[in-house]
Amino acid sequence: MEILISGASIAGPVLAYWLKRHGFRPTVVERAPTLRKTGGHAVDLFRPAMDIVERMGVLARVEAKKTGTERMTLLREGVQRQVDVDVGRLMHAVSDRHVEIMRDDLSEIFHDATRDDVEYVFGDSIASLAEDEAGVDVTFERGAPRRFDLVIGADGLHSNVRRLVFGEERQFARFIGAYLAVISIPNYLQLHDHAVVLGGVGRMAAIYGSHTIDDARAVFLFRSPRELDVHHRDVARQKQLLREAFAGAGWEVPRLMAELDRTPAFYFDSITQLRMDSWSRGRVTLTGDAGYSPGPAVGGSTSLAVVGAYVLAGELAAAGGDHARAFQACERKLADYVRRSRVFALNAARRLVPGSQFELWALAQIGRLVSVAPRGVSRALAKLSSHGVRLHDSIALNEYARAPTAVRQPAVLAGGP
Ligand SMILES: Cc1cc2nc3c(=O)[nH]c(=O)nc-3n(C[C@H](O)[C@H](O)[C@H](O)COP(=O)(O)OP(=O)(O)OC[C@H]3O[C@@H](n4cnc5c(N)ncnc54)[C@H](O)[C@@H]3O)c2cc1C
Repeated sequence: MEILISGASIAGPVLAYWLKRHGFRPTVVERAPTLRKTGGHAVDLFRPAMDIVERMGVLARVEAKKTGTERMTLLREGVQRQVDVDVGRLMHAVSDRHVEIMRDDLSEIFHDATRDDVEYVFGDSIASLAEDEAGVDVTFERGAPRRFDLVIGADGLHSNVRRLVFGEERQFARFIGAYLAVISIPNYLQLHDHAVVLGGVGRMAAIYGSHTIDDARAVFLFRSPRELDVHHRDVARQKQLLREAFAGAGWEVPRLMAELDRTPAFYFDSITQLRMDSWSRGRVTLTGDAGYSPGPAVGGSTSLAVVGAYVLAGELAAAGGDHARAFQACERKLADYVRRSRVFALNAARRLVPGSQFELWALAQIGRLVSVAPRGVSRALAKLSSHGVRLHDSIALNEYARAPTAVRQPAVLAGGP
């Protein structure tokens, strides 16, 4: 069975790996000319995603590339005293098994695990999809038209496949009240596996450095009661909005605002959640951020993308390639995880960007408490949380056997378990 995947970041290569393992023939088309290796940000892999990484035989490489952020210093606007947060303990309260890694490193590891057995087409994008009873005719912006049995969009929050099949993004995107920006900057503070955060009412700026990158990243989050009037390609206006949101902020913020004019990598977007009742139609489905992003940087969406891709491939195998049955089963299996991730993201966005002095104070108390309480105590407190802090660790993974009817060419990836 020939399956086209759009997007070669996280969900795409993980899906390709498992489809191949189950006996399908995936092809991945990626719009970027090569794998992205500049800019990027740190992402989180929690227990279920780590279990999948292990099953893919790439655990050692992922561990070797983890950022190692152990320490966070929290400064507060208008408050003298800083709070030192033990990030290891904080993450341990959230998950027993966690790795933070730069997204580009993770993407490269997943790509390497599949590149010998999966066809990758870089520098192209799907232009049109026409489905009939037996397959999907696909045209590309550059390459020749081809026919596939199934098409899967793993092309992120602003998915091209979703737009082509389901229509404009605004129908599904829900703004959750905040904006996010990330820039690459020289590591002039010499931060090594250390993050420094300035929290204020309605805004948060942070700088982190890791031994896995030569430079550093500055991250900005700010609240906005409504969506701002800015086009996603209007970088000059985005920088202006960022400057307005951080006007008057102290610490390193004036220097960071100056870096805005020099940065080689600038990311700016509203934090939106995708809310689709169903993310499959006919022979097309979506996976990862394309189908169910709970919001970047706040909902553990990388783990959700890894799990989602694994489950989709597994359900296709379990259904012997019957896509209608598999897509339905996949959506059913993921529904609860997706719903709870949205709640998690909403709470995280509110906590990370305090709305009042009291919430800023409470954020510092949580950081302090987690850092001094014994690990078992903070984990027990997290378990009691009504907001599902240990969401990821509560997800159970199925083992999926290879699909006998899907196999047209025997193909098992070398190196897998
Ligand atoms: C600034 C920022 C900070 C984040 N922080 C965190 C964090 O702390 N923790 C966490 O877990 N997650 C975080 N995330 C989210 C995380 O990056 C995503 O959840 C994860 O990368 C999802 O993977 P994906 O493969 O579904 O989509 P993406 O990583 O978005 O990949 C989509 C891929 O599709 C490609 N593509 C796009 N359009 C086309 C097209 N037309 N044709 C072909 N290919 C196309 C893109 O080039 C890209 O390679 C953050 C995201 C951002 C933006």
